Amino acid sequence: MAYPEPLERLIRAFESLPGLGPRSAERLALHILRMPREEVAALALALRDARLHTVRCERCGNVSLESPCAICADPERDASVLCVVEGPREVEKIEAAGVHCGLYHVLLEGFAPREGAEPEPEALARLRERVRAGGIQEVIVATAPDREGEGAALLVREALRGLPVRLTRLARGVPVGTRLEYLNQEIVAEALRGRVPWDQNGDET
Ligand SMILES: [Zn+2]
Repeated sequence: MAYPEPLERLIRAFESLPGLGPRSAERLALHILRMPREEVAALALALRDARLHTVRCERCGNVSLESPCAICADPERDASVLCVVEGPREVEKIEAAGVHCGLYHVLLEGFAPREGAEPEPEALARLRERVRAGGIQEVIVATAPDREGEGAALLVREALRGLPVRLTRLARGVPVGTRLEYLNQEIVAEALRGRVPWDQNGDET
């Protein structure tokens, strides 16, 4: 026997989300049916608000209430140092470490499934444009020391090739295979302080 149509529709909606297979989608949908109605209404509203009342900053690409975001609009931030990260979670992490007083550039939307995730081409083009516009002296490539992060770092280097800017990377105090978002603030702060020059014209090795 098939589920009632509204339930089928909910299951299909969950299934379309990253990381949710048919079984998890079904379990989640059935869980929703057991929740108090007012909680479901609050959840629906939160979903709607999060989507409708946030934007991506036109400068750095981070998720924000408005564009430009509070960080980009802050005159106290050092606009000559740009920290390139993979997603909004990494911005949160680095901000919490309290060491970076420059600006950011976010490569990903942050909700794509990790597998096969790549920097958005427009994010890379915008990065090149920002650096070419002048005023940026250093670009800190703060992508994760894993396969995807390394791939993203190489694309960043490629995008900035030939531009007069100092490229640096996080020091390798960060354990290999660990994502930035899982590290404590001290390790992130240490890695940022100990960042090392990165040859802009190097080979892909
Ligand atoms: Zn911004």
